[in-house]
Amino acid sequence: MSTSESKLRAQLVEYSQRLHARGWVANHDGNLSVRLPDARFLATPTAFSKAEVTNDSLVVVDAAGAVVAGRHRVFSEIGIHLSLYATRPDVAAVVHAHSPHATALSACGQALEVFLPEAVVSLGPVVPLVPLSAPGPAAVAAMAPFAPLYDAVLVAGNGLFAWGDSVEQAYLRAELVEHLCRIALLALPVGGVKPLPATLLPPLLEARRKAGLGPEARGLKAPVAAPAAASVAPPSAASASSGASAPSLAADQLADIIRQELSAALRR
Ligand SMILES: [Zn+2]
Repeated sequence: MSTSESKLRAQLVEYSQRLHARGWVANHDGNLSVRLPDARFLATPTAFSKAEVTNDSLVVVDAAGAVVAGRHRVFSEIGIHLSLYATRPDVAAVVHAHSPHATALSACGQALEVFLPEAVVSLGPVVPLVPLSAPGPAAVAAMAPFAPLYDAVLVAGNGLFAWGDSVEQAYLRAELVEHLCRIALLALPVGGVKPLPATLLPPLLEARRKAGLGPEARGLKAPVAAPAAASVAPPSAASASSGASAPSLAADQLADIIRQELSAALRR
C-alpha cells in the first residue's frame, strides 16, 4: 500500500467518525469515498455506524463498483459516487450525510438559495434539490444533471451530497450547506432569510471563478438562481404570494412519485 493510500485511508476514517460526532448520521446512514490511483476508489463499508468505521473495515472498489479489496460489502449508493467521479475528473472525494437541517429542507422539497455573500463564493448561488427517486439506477440518473454544475446538492428524501478535490474539501462543503440550512430554518419564524440582491451576484461569481471554483472556472455557464418554487420561504410568505413561492411538491404529488417509483422498482 502506498503512503498516499494509507493517508487517504486515515482521512476517510477520520471524516466518517466526524459525520457521526456531528450528529449528521444515525444508524448506518451516510457514506464516504475517495479516489485512488488506477481507477480505484476507497469507500466506507455498508451497514456500519460511521462511528465504527476503521481502516480495516474500508473497501476498495473498481470503476464499476465491484469490491477488489476489503472484507465487507460497499454501500448501495456507490453508483452515485462513481457517476460523480466519471463526470468530474477534478473530484477526488464524495461525502453523503443526513445532517438534520439540510435533510429537513430536502425532505420538504426545498432547495437552498444561498443568502450569505461569502458562501456564494464557496458554493455558488444555489444548492439545488435533486428530485426524489428510487434507490439504484434512478438515483444515479436523478443526480446526473447536477454533477457538472454543482459541488453540493440536497436530495429529496436523502439528505445532502458534497464533493471536492479532497475528503476535507467535500466535508467542509457539506458543513457549510448544513450550517446555511440551519440558519435558513432558524430565520423562518422571523420572516425568513432575504435573498441576495441580484446586483451582488456578478462580482461574487467572478470572485468564485477567480478562486478556481464552480462551473465557470471549468468553462461552463454557472446557474444563477434556484427555481423560485424551490427556495426556502416561511409558510406565511408561501401562502400569501400567488404561485411564485408555492411548495415544489404537494403531499399528494409526492405520494404519486413514491407509488410510481416503487412500482417501477418492483418491475425491475
Ligand atoms: Zn442517505
